Amino acid sequence: MSDVWDVIVVGAGIVGSACALECAKRGLRTAVVEGRGVGSGATAAGMGHIVVMDDSPAQMALTHYSRTLWADLSGNLPADVEYEACGTLWVASDEEEMQEVRRKSAVYTSAGVATEILDSQMLSDAEPNLRQPLAGALLVPRDAVLYPPCAAAFLLGGALRQGARLYSRKALSAGAGIVRLDDGTDLHAARIVNAGGTEASELLPGLPIRKRKGHLVITDRYPRFVRHQLVELGYLKSAHSLKSDSVAFNVQPRRTGQILIGSSRQYEAEHSAVDAKIVDSMIERAQWYMPQIGALSAIRVWTGFRAATPDKLPLIGPSPADESMFLATGHEGLGITTSLGTARLLVDHLQGIQTKIPIEPYLPGRFAGSEAHA
Ligand SMILES: Cc1cc2nc3c(=O)[nH]c(=O)nc-3n(C[C@H](O)[C@H](O)[C@H](O)COP(=O)(O)OP(=O)(O)OC[C@H]3O[C@@H](n4cnc5c(N)ncnc54)[C@H](O)[C@@H]3O)c2cc1C
Repeated sequence: MSDVWDVIVVGAGIVGSACALECAKRGLRTAVVEGRGVGSGATAAGMGHIVVMDDSPAQMALTHYSRTLWADLSGNLPADVEYEACGTLWVASDEEEMQEVRRKSAVYTSAGVATEILDSQMLSDAEPNLRQPLAGALLVPRDAVLYPPCAAAFLLGGALRQGARLYSRKALSAGAGIVRLDDGTDLHAARIVNAGGTEASELLPGLPIRKRKGHLVITDRYPRFVRHQLVELGYLKSAHSLKSDSVAFNVQPRRTGQILIGSSRQYEAEHSAVDAKIVDSMIERAQWYMPQIGALSAIRVWTGFRAATPDKLPLIGPSPADESMFLATGHEGLGITTSLGTARLLVDHLQGIQTKIPIEPYLPGRFAGSEAHA
């Protein structure tokens, strides 16, 4: 086997796996370097909500594009990926939040995303275990859920079947067209894709990425207790918060009948240990919305780290610091959703093909000149 490749992808989380598949499908000789296990980083910790979000026009464009790609792929996904187009319900607790439902609906509609406004009774019919009465909700019917580690394994498996090769080693350095592995092997390629998630800056110091810790709880099997991905509208306040700790009601039905309960966001929390106080406040929040949820049996709690950028958009495209290096990282809480769109944008850009949506908002060069590329 040659150690000279067209593209080397460092990192086989869901983003690197999607990039590897896209490269291999287009006939590029592709190597993938993964130091731990495929889909074992943030991808293993993620919730797997495939969601259109309207934080900014650029976020809306990438999440919508990516959700469409997931829907297109869904017929080919194996059962273990557990893809379900269950839809999202953005739950409004009062009239003020219903105004937000109407605003959101108008924004989604103008972007071509189907939504439906549910009143209090319709919401209670759709989700009988929610607290009653609540004011209503925005239903986004084509949003979906999936099981992220199996999705990453499926994407990488596709890349390997198309001729890509996996090096199960840590990359010690990457740059100037060379990736050095921890067994001393040098891999060569004109293009290196750094998809190292929160660790991307170990290979390219100075990237504008901060770790943002999250906790999740999973219950035993309670089929139909929850039917849609349920998110409180206050979730947006939590996701926007620059304060260290925030929690929001965010609950997901798994195909197994299990219920995934989220979610928390913490900066300056570098340790992966479970913080009981955070879990308590997540459960308390969930119980406010679903009074019976506290009576269910939780079987596991875990944490993971999102790779957050200052403007909440990922870094996709060439690095201003190294000609051979392309970035595919910084996806914060949306990397499962946006993995497929990221891969298309990145590889289109790399091959000089017109991208389907403008790539400019995600180009790493937007931070050039700041401390980002010191
Ligand atoms: C609690 C929580 C809930 C979330 N929920 C959702 C959700 O519902 N929907 C959604 O869209 N997103 C969600 N996310 C975000 C999502 O999980 C991440 O954005 C996504 O998994 C990032 O994927 P990645 O491939 O960039 O990173 P990772 O999955 O972290 O993969 C990076 C990989 O690179 C490897 N690597 C790094 N450096 C090297 C090196 N030097 N050599 C070799 N290998 C290396 C690592 O071992 C790792 O496997 C959530 C995240 C968390 C923490």
